[in-house]
Amino acid sequence: MNHPVLTRADCLARDAADPLAALRERFDLPAGTIYLDGNSLGARPKAALARAQQVIAQEWGKDLITSWNTAGWFEMPRRLGDRLAPLLGAHAGEVVVTDTTSVNLFKALAAALALQAPHAERRTIVTERSNFPTDIYMAEGLAGWLQRGYTVRLVDTPEEIPAVLGPDTAVLMLTHVNYRTGLQHDMAALTALAHRAGAVTVWDLAHSAGAVPVDLHEANADFAVGCTYKYLNGGPGAPAFIWVPRRHQATFTQPLSGWWGHATPFAMASSFTAGEGIGRALCGTQPVVSLALVECGLDVFGATDMHAIRTKSLALTDLFIALVESRCAGHPLGLVTPREHPRRGSHVSFTHPHGYAVMQALIARGVIGDYREPAIMRFGFTPLYTSFTEVWDAVDVLKGILDEEAYDVNAARGAVT
Ligand SMILES: *Cc1c(COP(=O)(O)O)cnc(C)c1O
Repeated sequence: MNHPVLTRADCLARDAADPLAALRERFDLPAGTIYLDGNSLGARPKAALARAQQVIAQEWGKDLITSWNTAGWFEMPRRLGDRLAPLLGAHAGEVVVTDTTSVNLFKALAAALALQAPHAERRTIVTERSNFPTDIYMAEGLAGWLQRGYTVRLVDTPEEIPAVLGPDTAVLMLTHVNYRTGLQHDMAALTALAHRAGAVTVWDLAHSAGAVPVDLHEANADFAVGCTYKYLNGGPGAPAFIWVPRRHQATFTQPLSGWWGHATPFAMASSFTAGEGIGRALCGTQPVVSLALVECGLDVFGATDMHAIRTKSLALTDLFIALVESRCAGHPLGLVTPREHPRRGSHVSFTHPHGYAVMQALIARGVIGDYREPAIMRFGFTPLYTSFTEVWDAVDVLKGILDEEAYDVNAARGAVT
């Protein structure tokens, strides 16, 4: 492909014309850092500090336990779910923000298996070997623990999925955008295939929510879960979400039947009766301080829409790919992320034989991405706060490191890579 020669001035011009450029002001980003890891931990919305102070000093400090009612703490999982719903193509009353992605996946998967319970021959959960490990582990955990012959079948490539869906398939459980490669699945097409085979779908939107347009209803998906601390900028360890469409709510059952999912939690009944609607996806008391901050991230999305975000995301990732391939030509870099727009999420991964060491050198020079086994350098592009000029500058730093071989192949590894 013949790319027009790009300059830093071109990138500055793109920033000047970027309709989302002003949103960067809503985030606190340290000077001298180019942050390309919003796919793993979103940057801090400036408003989060004051919100945390309000929750801690006023709502907790002064109003104490009355805040469950007066500050809306009890309603927060539903209220935030309703605010998040439009980003997912979901309706109000179908999403709660609660627990972790791993735990919500467990609930969704259990509910999906329960739907299939009448079909004794459907005992396989199909997913990808390249799925995020916790998704596989949670499926293995549930399948093994049930002791009813459930197995987890791992496919090695997306192309294998249609052929493995069959009369033994209970659930097709996929992550919409692959955490490592950035490959985006066609949710509608795969859901239709799964349904044709009699399977139920569970979608993990960890790298999709706030990153790419998602339309769960249009895709006719069955269940979905995802993170708020990645592209939604909810804060480290912020509670995750679970979506149960209205058509599945009446039959939705999950084994973590805690009191928050009860029809009348404060009746203090001695036996569980599931509440109506999405409330039955809840389990117990939520981390209020952390939960409250999720709203600060969602507020920023209120100032734009996923179409504008997607347009800029593709422009950023196209630019990054073109600059790396032209300016770092000759170095052993391999693009892992699909070039075709519909198959790409909002991060770009390149392999390099010394990927870990090169990433450490990048971080030391203020360009923060991350590393994933095997040999993959991952760069996240978050249209709310990443500029075109930063993409230029990041590639400039990468080129310098590669040209000078300025990386330590024996770099020590931290617990988190
Ligand atoms: C980030 C991520 C998770 C994280 O799950 P936690 O329970 O929050 O640790 C799960 N699944 C996928 C696909 C992810 O990308």
